[in-house]
Amino acid sequence: TSFAHFGFDEQLMHQIRKSEYTQPTPIQCQGVPIALSGRDMIGIAKTGSGKTAAFIWPMLVHIMDQKELEAGEGPIAVIVCPTRELCQQIHAECKRFGKTYSLRSVAVYGGGSMWEQAKALQEGAEIVVCTPGRLIDHVKKKATSLQRVTYLVFDEADRMFDMGFGEYTLLFSATFRKKIERLARDILVDPIRVVQ
Ligand code: AMP
Repeated sequence: TSFAHFGFDEQLMHQIRKSEYTQPTPIQCQGVPIALSGRDMIGIAKTGSGKTAAFIWPMLVHIMDQKELEAGEGPIAVIVCPTRELCQQIHAECKRFGKTYSLRSVAVYGGGSMWEQAKALQEGAEIVVCTPGRLIDHVKKKATSLQRVTYLVFDEADRMFDMGFGEYTLLFSATFRKKIERLARDILVDPIRVVQ
C-alpha cells in the first residue's frame, strides 16, 4: 500500500510529505482504510509502529466531513490516553496534521492547570486529547460538552487499565441509543442507570 491508496486530499498529503514518511507502516496500511470506512476498530500495535497517525489521519477526514454538517459546541473527536506525556505527544501530532485545515486541538491532563485547560476548551476545539479523570472533571464543571463527539479513541487502553482507570467507569451520554447501550454493556460492570 502507498499513501495514494488512502484517498486523502492534497492538503493532508502535503503534510504527510512534509513529514518525510515514504510509505505507510503496517498498522497504517491495515487500520486507515478501516477507520475511514466508519467501522469500529481494535488496533493492536506497539509504540513506534505509527499507530498515532493511523487514528489521526482518518479522524481529520471524519472531522472535515462532519464539520460542515454539524455546527455546534464541543469536540467532534476525543482521544483518551493514560498519561500526560502521551497526551502532549498525540496533541502535537494532531496540531501538526490538523493545522492544514485550521482544526484546533486541546490537551487536558491531570497535573496541568484546570483553569487554563477550561479556557482552551471554551475557546473551542474540534479535537480533545485527554486523560480520563481530567476529562470527567471538565465535563462535570461544564467546561466542555461531549454531545458532538462522533470519533472516540482509547489509546494504550491496556496501560489505562493497569493504572487503575478501569476500576470504575462512568459513561455519560445525552441519549441512550442501541450503539451506546452495546458499548456500555461491554465496558461497565453492573452499572446503575441514572436518567435525567
Ligand atoms: P507512534 O507509533 O505513533 O508513536 O509513532 C512512532 C514514530 O513514527 C513517530 O515519531 C511518527 O512520527 C513516526 N511515523 C508515523 N508514521 C510513519 C510513517 N508512515 N513512516 C515513517 N515514520 C512514521
